[in-house]
Amino acid sequence: MIRILLGLSLFSILACTDRSGECPTVFFGGEIVNPTSDYVVLYRNDTYIDSAKLDTGNRFSFKLQGIEEGLYHFDHSPELQYLYLQEGDSILIRLNTMEFDESLVFSGEGSEINNFLIEMFLAHEQEEHEIYGFYHLPPMDFQKKIDSLQEKKLAHLNELITENQLSEKAIGLATASVNYQSFTHRESYPFYHKKKTGKETFPELPEEFYSYRKSVDLNNRELAYFRPYFDYVKYHFGNISYMACMKGCGGMEGKESMGRLHYNKHKLTMVDSLVSEDELRNLLFRNIAMDYLLREHSASKECQIFIEKFRKLSSSDDHKQEIDDLYEGIQNLQPNSELPELIVTNVENQEVSIKDISKKQKTVFYFWTGAQKRHLKNVTQHVAKLQKKHPEYRFVGINVKTSYTQWQNLLEEYGLDKADQFHGDDFEEIQTSMILDDLYKCVIAKDTLVVDAFASLYYSF
Ligand SMILES: [Zn+2]
Repeated sequence: MIRILLGLSLFSILACTDRSGECPTVFFGGEIVNPTSDYVVLYRNDTYIDSAKLDTGNRFSFKLQGIEEGLYHFDHSPELQYLYLQEGDSILIRLNTMEFDESLVFSGEGSEINNFLIEMFLAHEQEEHEIYGFYHLPPMDFQKKIDSLQEKKLAHLNELITENQLSEKAIGLATASVNYQSFTHRESYPFYHKKKTGKETFPELPEEFYSYRKSVDLNNRELAYFRPYFDYVKYHFGNISYMACMKGCGGMEGKESMGRLHYNKHKLTMVDSLVSEDELRNLLFRNIAMDYLLREHSASKECQIFIEKFRKLSSSDDHKQEIDDLYEGIQNLQPNSELPELIVTNVENQEVSIKDISKKQKTVFYFWTGAQKRHLKNVTQHVAKLQKKHPEYRFVGINVKTSYTQWQNLLEEYGLDKADQFHGDDFEEIQTSMILDDLYKCVIAKDTLVVDAFASLYYSF
């Protein structure tokens, strides 16, 4: 408590009421409990703005002048979260990295919109399971369920607008955070409905089912880096490309991988013709390319044809490099290749290579992070079952995105076998070399060689 009070008094000094003209126009600071890095870094979209080092009390502060109003994000490696900033803001946060998003609280001038955004973020996470249970419903019943969730949130937003002075831009973003989530569910409806009901064809949809599409701007630069909006645009293009292929390109039948190549090329063409905003175009091209390569995960002629088309459309050299790296990573993980040179740390704080871990035995590498407790619980239970069923394999957990001490505590707390657990320091290196594209992804190896690098704990055993 004292710490918070100290923080607040410091904050009121820095908020500087004397209006001498020397004052920073925006203050952003706070305290991080259980820090996982020494810094907090601030970004506007993908552009670096500034960084602040934590002091001995794990506090940090930014004083910014002349900033553009809008969406930013702050990064406390390896986690990040959105931050909305405008002139005159004095925002203080408190967060505990053990429960990063759940613990995050904003206070001070400009905090209302930020608390709303994090609330929506958490609400959507919580609702995911519930909504999945609605997909078997007929279209209008599904729509009613989704509408009612949306209306509840919009009512909450209206209260916020009445009680606070929010800028038009802030209201726009808050509204987008609610609406696009809802639109995304509608875009995915025909696919999940077909899957859940086991029907052969897509459901007939009444015309008004997609009525929101008229109000959607597919060229919103301001929202390009905002997850709910970007996800919507992604699903929307997935939907309209698939339907266009079904109608005009002779369906999706034929050789499975050729079908996928055609569909993804068609999707690139659709984005090319409908999105003119350069940054958003590039982000979509990159996303389609990643999605295609990760699913294809082989080194094939089709992949090369696809990458060529992607390279022609994208104007971002960074994205092109990223896709080249990904393709190289995929090629390196083909069956019978040597495992990548990857170093992890054991409980005795010794460095070990994953090749050595897999020597002379069948090994399954799986991955977990301290930030997702529910996933950790699921994975631990599931691996215990697999271990009984498949004693011929050694199941090895690689922890990522967690500090070494926190990792050790979690091993105790969840009763994990320390001999089979390793800590990964460099998340990005592990992510690129092992291609972590799924929470339940695992890499099956035998005596330093890859057996299946794109396996799943749930589907491969
Ligand atoms: Zn097509």
